[in-house]
Amino acid sequence: MRYISTRGSAPALDFEGVTLAGLASDGGLYVPEAWPRISEAEIRDVRGKPYWAVAQQVMRPFIGDSLSEDELGRICEEVYGSFGHAAVTPLVQLDHRHWLLELFHGPTLAFKDIALQLLGRLFETFLARRGGNLTIVGATSGDTGSAAIRAVAGLERVDVFMLHPDGKVSDVQRRQMTTVDAPNVHNIAISGSFDDAQAMVKRMFADRSMTDRFAIGAVNSINWARLMAQVVYYFYAAVQLGAPDRKVAFSVPTGNFGDVFAGYVAAQMGLPVARLIVATNINDILHRALSAGDYSAGTVTPTDAPSMDIQVSSNFERLLFDLTDSGGGRDGAALADQMRGFEATRAMRLLESQSLAARGLFASFRADADQTGNAMRWAWEHTGQVIDPHTAIGLSAALGTDLGSALEDVPVVTLATAHPAKFPEAVERAIGVRPDLPARAGNLFERAESYDRLPGNYDAVRDYVAQRARPRS
Ligand SMILES: *Cc1c(COP(=O)(O)O)cnc(C)c1O
Repeated sequence: MRYISTRGSAPALDFEGVTLAGLASDGGLYVPEAWPRISEAEIRDVRGKPYWAVAQQVMRPFIGDSLSEDELGRICEEVYGSFGHAAVTPLVQLDHRHWLLELFHGPTLAFKDIALQLLGRLFETFLARRGGNLTIVGATSGDTGSAAIRAVAGLERVDVFMLHPDGKVSDVQRRQMTTVDAPNVHNIAISGSFDDAQAMVKRMFADRSMTDRFAIGAVNSINWARLMAQVVYYFYAAVQLGAPDRKVAFSVPTGNFGDVFAGYVAAQMGLPVARLIVATNINDILHRALSAGDYSAGTVTPTDAPSMDIQVSSNFERLLFDLTDSGGGRDGAALADQMRGFEATRAMRLLESQSLAARGLFASFRADADQTGNAMRWAWEHTGQVIDPHTAIGLSAALGTDLGSALEDVPVVTLATAHPAKFPEAVERAIGVRPDLPARAGNLFERAESYDRLPGNYDAVRDYVAQRARPRS
């Protein structure tokens, strides 16, 4: 399997190459050269298999020669054998039509563990084979940082530098990062906002004085391997609900458009996905883009669902690439023009052809604070389920979107992206119950924290990383 850039001019890479790379050198994102297909018989064959075996089967075509069948099977078994639930991503029925797909049974209680636990093992395997060191630099508004740190803590050839905005992540989120005691983990609290931290990381990816000395890798969802790992649970869930003989719809709490793009990939592979509902909070650029063709970024308004407080959704470019068709399919040069326009003005209109094509599969929904609270109460009062604010936005969208009479028998699965105990204040405000941290979260509030504070100044961050990271070889 070869991977090409959405902007058409970076060199193609194999799976190992895209896993270790960040952004493509032309500023685009890597995608498979063609979507692999899975036949109905192969989808049926998924039934009854344990999660790790489904993962091996679904991910196999994306990996090509980068891992042997034995290596892939062993990695899947080890990664998904260590989750807090035997089913890894269990389905929970809410009523005759609605289901939750619980994605929060990993070590840091959000769905990001499902992909990042795998990514850590891939880094380890590929670096042991080719030698050298990898320097991970990332910015986090909460969940990515802890999941990435837990995935790479203690790895021999990886150093991780995680920037978070000082004072702007929750206590649970900060402690999940700063109480991990490993020599290769470096937590940095930056004075400023998440966007400031993110801008410094982007600058470092483009800073030759750094990239010449260090192999700088990415753990956010621009990394293809993360999206690939998320395709698995769409298959796993849909087959339990009757696929390939029955269609299934999914409602996905969305920020950077990574999780829902994995659902799109599953559909391209042949899974009968009836609809993908893109659920946003009041930071609704994707809802405006999908419903009215208006992709324009405003300023971020903080909400109870901080992991969705995003204005620019990186992975949307991967969808636009597939939908940019000037007679013959994916047109990287045309998309590069369109994206450059967006980068200059922070606004663009989707082409009519892009909007029409997107509406074939995607619906969208925007939930405000009241609707989010109502969904938490509905789940608690009608089903006894305590759900977190991100999941509540997904459920609000699932309950509030009319899929039409042709799809009225289709089951609707809401992706439950975080454990409610990650956001105890918001949950307690909505339903009057304060969720407890599960035992696997450990004694977060008793362990010592370790992190450094730096000013919101690029040179200070660059020097900090340069003094501590190990050169590429
Ligand atoms: C990251 C995150 C999201 C958004 O996922 P994307 O892939 O960025 O769209 C939603 N909910 C939670 C809890 C998250 O951590």
